[in-house]
Amino acid sequence: MVEIEKTVGEEGKELVVHKKTPNHEAVLKELIDIVGEDYVMDDSASLFVYSGDMTENVPHMPEFVVAPITVEEVQKIVLLANREKIPIIPFVSGSNLGGLTIPLEGGITVDLKRMNKILEVNEVDQYAIIEAGVTFANIKNYLDKNHPDLVYTYTYATPAAGVVPNALLEGLATLSTKYGTTDCFINGLEAVLPTGEIVRVGSGAVSKYWFGRNPLPDLVGLFTSWQGMTGIVTKMAIQLDPKPAYSGIKMIMTDEIHEAFQLMLNLGRAQICDNLIMFNWGLAFAVIQMPRETVGSEKMEGAPSISLEMDISAINTLKEFEAKVEVIEKLAEKYGFGVWDYQEVGDDITKVLDVPMTFAGLFTHGPGGLTWVGAYGPCSQYETAWNVANEVFSRYPRFTPWVYAKTFKHGHFGAMRTLVGFDRSNAEEVRETREIMKEMAEELNNIGFIPYKAPVWATEMLLERGDPNFGLFLKKIKKALDPNRIMNPGRWGL
Ligand SMILES: Cc1cc2nc3c(=O)[nH]c(=O)nc-3n(C[C@H](O)[C@H](O)[C@H](O)COP(=O)(O)OP(=O)(O)OC[C@H]3O[C@@H](n4cnc5c(N)ncnc54)[C@H](O)[C@@H]3O)c2cc1C
Repeated sequence: MVEIEKTVGEEGKELVVHKKTPNHEAVLKELIDIVGEDYVMDDSASLFVYSGDMTENVPHMPEFVVAPITVEEVQKIVLLANREKIPIIPFVSGSNLGGLTIPLEGGITVDLKRMNKILEVNEVDQYAIIEAGVTFANIKNYLDKNHPDLVYTYTYATPAAGVVPNALLEGLATLSTKYGTTDCFINGLEAVLPTGEIVRVGSGAVSKYWFGRNPLPDLVGLFTSWQGMTGIVTKMAIQLDPKPAYSGIKMIMTDEIHEAFQLMLNLGRAQICDNLIMFNWGLAFAVIQMPRETVGSEKMEGAPSISLEMDISAINTLKEFEAKVEVIEKLAEKYGFGVWDYQEVGDDITKVLDVPMTFAGLFTHGPGGLTWVGAYGPCSQYETAWNVANEVFSRYPRFTPWVYAKTFKHGHFGAMRTLVGFDRSNAEEVRETREIMKEMAEELNNIGFIPYKAPVWATEMLLERGDPNFGLFLKKIKKALDPNRIMNPGRWGL
């Protein structure tokens, strides 16, 4: 563990600087030998960029940033770090919103963006093999140009966000109501273990086709939600889907919250939506980039409390698409709702739903700071969770409540996301952001929800409250894979 040298700045604006490894210059030279001079940085200005993210989590300076381009380079960096017992933090765009690339114990940030090749697309078996640094913009543009009949599941994250970390973090995307979180799209992967071995898991380990994870022990789970603590994934096979011939977005907007959640549950079971999202009035104003001073923390007269977005598609015929619309209209009618076509709602919404996209309103609002407690839980508790989230927001009138629910696997479970836009230059506001996030995570967990992409304080809460043997089991696996504790140390409190 690299010791802390100093913490600069007041609480809320602090920056932690770690002591350099005693043989800093020798390590620097070895890193340069591995990747070349242009791709190693150890000057404070460059390191600072990788020290923190847009969240309220305390930034820590890394000691080096290195940008490899081949698997062999990654392997050499890992072997060097393991020998010298220096922490390693895998990084693509740092937009995870959980502080997960902050080097909690200093060390080497490994920026994987140069590993951006799409190595293979198998049209018949519907998968792509991609390198670790491929972004959502890369995959979307590549498929649109070269394989226009195929699509991936896209997120509302920035186009510069990494596809591999997103899947490893079990994210939520445009086909999640249909298939589940983005880890469900992983057919297999290649990784460099903390001790330097290159391993493959999934069918690609024993077949020349990366068609899936069966029928083998499913070792993909040794990398998902581990937040880069068990190795560096260098390649991933991801499942693609046929591009639908017809697609559209339907909406309802209402103040009848109970009925809207009943409709959402029933639409899940109807198994017709690719994506089913409930968002509150605060987020609707964020979409149209309305500033916080204008929006405030109370809903404006006349604005609908919530909107339900229903994405539907048909692979083959218009009739198939129209049949889905008919089911939506029938179910909505049962609860007394009229259904809108999203183009009718306005251009701002149309633009923002064209994924992958930049959700600019979330950043201009704060300004600059953005964080969340996104939590996964049972759909039976959706309405309770929605009320809990709004109750917590009501105790913090400084912030506009941003709340958003999404259904996975046709209603088998779902996400309740609460987002906070805050002013990063205001230490008091940062401290208050830390308080609301903690309170939100605790209260949502009280009713059965589990924070995902969880920062250290939230994972520690889970381990404290959960089955003690779960924590011991995690520790045992981590120790077996990473005996020198070099991979993103400190995450999960391990
Ligand atoms: C406005 C906004 C909207 C968002 N919307 C969504 C959304 O709709 N759905 C969603 O799921 N997410 C969303 N996100 C979160 C985030 O942007 C995505 O999850 C993103 O894909 C993560 O990729 P990244 O490149 O930022 O990963 P990073 O932050 O660079 O890394 C994330 C984690 O993965 C680890 N890691 C990175 N690469 C590797 C590797 N090769 N091997 C092992 N570990 C690795 C890192 O160490 C870290 O722990 C949103 C974020 C923002 C800011």
